[in-house]
Amino acid sequence: MSVTHQQVLEKLAGVTSPRGVALTNANVLSPITVSDGKVFFSINVDAAEARAWESVRAQAESAVRAIPGVTAAMIALTAERKPGSSSPPPHRHAAGGGVPPASAHRPPQGAPSPMSRQAEIPGIAAVIAVASGKGGVGKSTTALNLALGLRDVGLRVGLLDADIYGPSIPRLTGIREKPALNDDKKMIPISRFGLSIMSIGFLVEEDTAMIWRGPMVMSAITQMLRDVAWGALDVLVVDMPPGTGDAQLTLAQNVPLKGAIIVSTPQDLSLIDARRGLAMFRKVNVPVLGIVENMSYFQCPHCGTRSDIFGHGGARHEAERLGVPFLGEIPLHMAIRTTSDSGNPVVESEPDGPHAAIYRAIGAKVRDQLRGVIAAA
Ligand code: ADP
Repeated sequence: MSVTHQQVLEKLAGVTSPRGVALTNANVLSPITVSDGKVFFSINVDAAEARAWESVRAQAESAVRAIPGVTAAMIALTAERKPGSSSPPPHRHAAGGGVPPASAHRPPQGAPSPMSRQAEIPGIAAVIAVASGKGGVGKSTTALNLALGLRDVGLRVGLLDADIYGPSIPRLTGIREKPALNDDKKMIPISRFGLSIMSIGFLVEEDTAMIWRGPMVMSAITQMLRDVAWGALDVLVVDMPPGTGDAQLTLAQNVPLKGAIIVSTPQDLSLIDARRGLAMFRKVNVPVLGIVENMSYFQCPHCGTRSDIFGHGGARHEAERLGVPFLGEIPLHMAIRTTSDSGNPVVESEPDGPHAAIYRAIGAKVRDQLRGVIAAA
């Protein structure tokens, strides 16, 4: 039995909004996508009201799920700050303290849903994820320097910071400006170091990012993937949120990934988390391109002496055991930390140094694995 748009609207009319009127009359709904029994739309409200709307979102989702024939319902609550409620935005949407509603560029009904894994992103040959089982292992630092390594081996590269809970790409790249919109109302990624870069941190104030939960995360990331004028790219590197919870799984399922790279430190605990990451990508049939061991060994910035303080080599063994490629070892080195934290990543600031060479070698391995995909595109 095929689900109709009208059925969805009828159900939503039975849900009362915090404004005291039916949800369908509250002027908050994006266009509704119904495709193959799957229903997607967003409820767009002011950030200040978001908490009051969370239960309405949940009610709307259960109401839609109850329609015979509905196999999935994804309803996102997106929070936008009203113009004027924070520092005045230079551009509509992009600087408004929230993410623009997902509605603007939805394909007509019957086309693949923008949330579907099958929906490739026009112009991008391969989207790859950089993930870690937990925070603090250097995932973002690796994602940025790997993106630069891929650039150095001749690819056109973009970087999407999807770490919505703690976006660090603005800090690691020193980017302070907000993206502008083009004539099609798509955000133009910031161009830095020859990369096209987008981060939720360019769009939202920290406090706004914190109130985003559950489906809002996916909705925001979908918009950053699809409502951005990426142009022609060979690879888009996605810096994933750390961990292997529901948000990460949904992301891995819904972003059209051609592969994933797992970053781990050599410690046992980090490796256990990395294994979970691997299992997560395998579960959703995303090929794991390999494991990178970060903070692999300590290299003294003064004398260059190497110490294996974390029992270096754990990730290499783990990769062998699990049958995935081992991509390389990055030392724990002061230069990597200081360059990262000053917005001038090491591959860019010390291109002839030993660290840049390591990231480039990892980039070359990744490029070789993606060769077929890039050539086909
Ligand atoms: P994550 O994204 O996993 O939370 P980050 O990339 O933000 O981690 O890194 C956390 C901290 O560790 C940052 O201060 C960063 O500069 C530092 N760091 C990351 N990798 C290295 C490394 N190989 N050597 C030295 N410092 C590093």
